[in-house]
Amino acid sequence: MSVYDKYEAVIGLECHVQLLTKTKMYSNDAAEYGALPNTNVSVVTLGHPGTLPRVNKRAIEFAVKLGIATKSTITTENQFARKNYFYADLPKGYQITQDKTPICTGGYIGFKLKDGQEKKINLIRIHMEEDAGKSMHDIDPFETLIDLNRAGTPLLEIVTQPDFRSGEEAYAYLNEVRKLVRYLDICDGNMEEGSLRCDANISVRLKGAKEYGRRTEVKNMNSFRNVQRAIDFEIKRQIDLIEAGETISVETRSFDAVNGTTFTLRSKESANDYRYFPEPDLQPVFVTADYIEGVKKNLPPLPNDLHNKYVNELKLSEYDASVLTESKEIALYFNELISSTKNYKSAANWVMVNVKSFLNENALHINDFPIQPKVLSQIIALIDEGKISHAAASQKLFPALVANPAKSPESLATELDIIQNSNSGEIQALVEQAVNKFPEKITEYKNGKVGLLGLFVGEVMKLSKGKADPKVVNQLVKEQLEK
Ligand code: ADP
Ligand code: MG
Repeated sequence: MSVYDKYEAVIGLECHVQLLTKTKMYSNDAAEYGALPNTNVSVVTLGHPGTLPRVNKRAIEFAVKLGIATKSTITTENQFARKNYFYADLPKGYQITQDKTPICTGGYIGFKLKDGQEKKINLIRIHMEEDAGKSMHDIDPFETLIDLNRAGTPLLEIVTQPDFRSGEEAYAYLNEVRKLVRYLDICDGNMEEGSLRCDANISVRLKGAKEYGRRTEVKNMNSFRNVQRAIDFEIKRQIDLIEAGETISVETRSFDAVNGTTFTLRSKESANDYRYFPEPDLQPVFVTADYIEGVKKNLPPLPNDLHNKYVNELKLSEYDASVLTESKEIALYFNELISSTKNYKSAANWVMVNVKSFLNENALHINDFPIQPKVLSQIIALIDEGKISHAAASQKLFPALVANPAKSPESLATELDIIQNSNSGEIQALVEQAVNKFPEKITEYKNGKVGLLGLFVGEVMKLSKGKADPKVVNQLVKEQLEK
C-alpha cells in the first residue's frame, strides 16, 4: 500500500457561468463577446455619479432555470450587495453581487462517472453577480491593457459542497455543468472564451477522519482537463507535505499548464476584507411561486434525466445514452424518433451511426438534417417488417431520402427496386432450384456439415438478384434440406 492510499481528497468547486443575455447585469450595454475593446461601456457600467443600476430580468429567469434544473430552493426576496475592492479592471470600485440571499440554495447536480456509476454533488448556493473587465498583460510589452466590455456582464456562481474525491470526478462534473447550461440555453459553455470558469478548493485528510484538512484554492485553469490536472497535482503535493511533517498553508494558488504544477499567488492570511453591505441603489427582486411555475413549464428535458431514461427504460447501453445526450438537439431528435418506433436499439444506431456520420461528412448541424424523425422511423419499420434489408436501407435508401426528403421511404424503396421478396411461394421455387444444383452437398449437409447452409442461402440470394428476404430464405432452405 502506498502512502497516498492512506489519504482521501476533499474538493469543492466554484464555477462562474457567463449568461447569454443580450445586455449586461445592471445596464443595457451589450454583453456580446468579441466586440472592439471598450465599446460596450456606458456611464452605468463605469458607475459614474448619478447613474443607477437596474437588474436584468432575463438574468433572473436564467438563474431560476438553473435553480429548477438543480432542484435548488429558490429565494423569494433577492437582495443585492456591494463587494468592495480596488482593481484596475473594476471601474466602479465594487462589484454588485449577492451575499446573504443567493438566488438558489441547496440542490444538486447528478451525473455519470466513466464506469457508469452515478455521482451526486450537492450545491451550497448559486448567486447572481457581475463580471469585472479584462486585464491583458501579454499584448503590449510595457503596459497592461484593459478592456471594460466584460465589466458588468452577468454571471451565475455555482458553489458546491466539498463532495468531490478526485480530479476525475471534478472533470465529469464540469462536463455535466456545460451540458446542463447548454440544454438550458443560458450559457454557451465555452471554457476557452471564458464563459465557464472554475476555481478548485482542495484539501486532504486521513481516510476515516471526520474533520476536513486545511485547504488551498487553485485558480487559472483554462480547460476541464487542466482542472483535473491541477487537482491531482495538488492532492499529491499536500500529501507529500503532510508526510514530511509540514502543515498546509491556507492560500490561493495558480496553475501552470506547461509544467502541470501549482504555485502560490497569495496567502489567505492577507485575504481581502470586502466590506459587503446592501447595495443602496437596487430594490430587492421578488421571485414568486407563479413566476417559477411559468419558467418550469418551458424547461427542456435535462441531460442526466434523459441519460437515465435511455438506460433504465429503453435499455440502451451507458455508451449509447451518453452519445445521444451529448448535445440537446441530437437528444431532442432522438426523443421524437422514439415516439414513433419501439425499436429503440435500432433508432439509437440510426442516429449515432447514419445520421451523425452524414452530419459530420457534410459539416451540418442536426437542425439542418433533412429527414424528419417520423420519416426515419418508417425506414426502421420497413427493415423490421422484412421489406428491405438493413444494408440496402443504409446504403441506398438513406442517401436517396436525404436527397428527396419529401418522398415516402416506401415509394423510394420501390423506385430503387430494393423491396425484398418475402413471398414464400416464389422463394420456395428458387430454393428448390438452388438445392437441386448440388445433390452431393445435400448428403454432406445431412451428414453434419451444417456450414453448407450458407452456400445454399447464397445461391438463392443470387437467383433472386438479392431481393429475397434473407430471413425467409434461411428458414425455407433449412426446411428443404431437412426434408
Ligand atoms: P470562501 O468564501 O473562502 O471561498 P466557502 O466556504 O464559500 O469559502 O467555500 C468555498 C468552496 O470551498 C466550496 O466549494 C466548499 O465546498 C469548499 N471547501 C470548503 N472547505 C473545504 C475543505 N476543507 N477542503 C476542500 N474544499 C473545501
Ligand atoms: Mg472562494
